[in-house]
Amino acid sequence: MRADGAPLGQREAGADEAGALRAALAAADRQLSKLAAAAGKDAAEILEFQIALLADDALLGPIFAAIAQGAAADAAWAQAMAEQIADYRAAADEYLRARSADIADLRDRVLSALYGGEANPKTGRAGAVICADDLPPSRFLEIDWSAGGGLALSQGSATSHVAMLARARGVPMVVQLGEVPEPADAALLDADEGILEVDPPVARIQALATRQENQVLSRAADLAALENPSISFRGEPVRLMLNIQGPADLDHPDARYADGVGLMRTEFLFGRADLPDEEKQRSVYEQVLNWAGERPVVIRTVDAGGDKPVRGLTEAREANPFLGVRGLRLSLKRPDIFAVQLRALARAAALGKLRVMFPMVTTPEEFKTARRLFVQAVEELKSAGVRASLPEIGIMVEVPAAALTIESFPASFFSIGSNDLTQYVTACDRTNGALASLADPLNPGVLELIRRVAEHGRKLGVSVSLCGDIAGEPRYLETLLRCGLLEFSMSPPALAAVKRALAALSRKSDHV
Ligand code: PEP
Ligand code: MG
Repeated sequence: MRADGAPLGQREAGADEAGALRAALAAADRQLSKLAAAAGKDAAEILEFQIALLADDALLGPIFAAIAQGAAADAAWAQAMAEQIADYRAAADEYLRARSADIADLRDRVLSALYGGEANPKTGRAGAVICADDLPPSRFLEIDWSAGGGLALSQGSATSHVAMLARARGVPMVVQLGEVPEPADAALLDADEGILEVDPPVARIQALATRQENQVLSRAADLAALENPSISFRGEPVRLMLNIQGPADLDHPDARYADGVGLMRTEFLFGRADLPDEEKQRSVYEQVLNWAGERPVVIRTVDAGGDKPVRGLTEAREANPFLGVRGLRLSLKRPDIFAVQLRALARAAALGKLRVMFPMVTTPEEFKTARRLFVQAVEELKSAGVRASLPEIGIMVEVPAAALTIESFPASFFSIGSNDLTQYVTACDRTNGALASLADPLNPGVLELIRRVAEHGRKLGVSVSLCGDIAGEPRYLETLLRCGLLEFSMSPPALAAVKRALAALSRKSDHV
């Protein structure tokens, strides 16, 4: 069934257009708050973005001003939202572009309420494949997925919020289908291949069923590997840690098999309507530490900029954001915002095994300045009677200059950011698909730097991990072990395959 389309209606402009809009905003707020209360934490955080916009004065001010000038409520609202959607769609960053579906949903909810439409839109037959151009998270959450079913989007994005929710709930989803076929009695949605087939032949259904059975068997092998200790082919213990954006990622069923958190990317906490305050940040860090217990947790200070712009924080118009004021450079430029994060981290450090690292460090002076600010934050908290401590402080090694002068950084640990290191060593924009083969993490220049940092860590007895995407790709494992690395941090779904690859390497006798 199709599940989208802006609600179109006719309404006469009334005497109190501002009142009508206020009532419609309140109705949308009620619907979204109800969904947020019933949904999991990941979903609630996404809906908060929409709920915050319903009370955003910067957005609503011009709309009410237009109404005061005689515009009808629906026209003023639709016009303002069309501008927002166009802005988001034109963003260079895919993450921001994907937010346009959330704004379109908000537009439609408020318009529905203005037209006196249904509060709970149709949700379709249980187990159906839902077809739409795109689907906002709130519509996704209104659908009962307990009987199966899937999502086929003619547009959409794999990095959208709805894609994150679908992944977390195991709902098969295909995006960018182009044309979506007409409704049919039977449909086969093959999320691995990215295909939607209407009225499929029996042979196709059987082939898909066989593949699914094989996936079940493969999962059984994953679980066996996950329970085994991680040992390199030379017999050394290997640490496999997790890359997370927030506590919700720790709900993945494999997360509990990890040796801790190797990278928490805190910039995603900053991606919402408002910058998070000290208490909000501290409580998120505390949740991660509670999950980890005795295991170590590495939290990275905000790495905004580059491909992760944050409204109200990153520089607006840099010609080349990847070479711009991002990561630690931005934090040092905004000590007010940095201090809030350092205070939250210092308070969390008193609660568990926390380590903190700075992103995009280029010179030892930057590191020392940031560390001094951290020490200062701890002292201020302590003298105000607040429980706080200074955690171990490390750096991301992702700028070639830092890798080449690694001996001059008095850091307590190092984590190699191979995504950026590869981008900067090969001079290939990491988001430019046309350069994918040239942006090779196995480029000898990149490997030389990885070896160099690993060697330095071994000499000093200081931990060196690698937390770029290649840590989660089994085909790189042998090379990285041979570079001298024994610690890797990856997204939770990658853990099982890496553990299996580690075991397979150990079984090969010719490695020693
Ligand atoms: C990296 O650059 O490898 C890394 C882990 O950081 P991010 O991908 O967040 O830039
Ligand atoms: Mg990086």
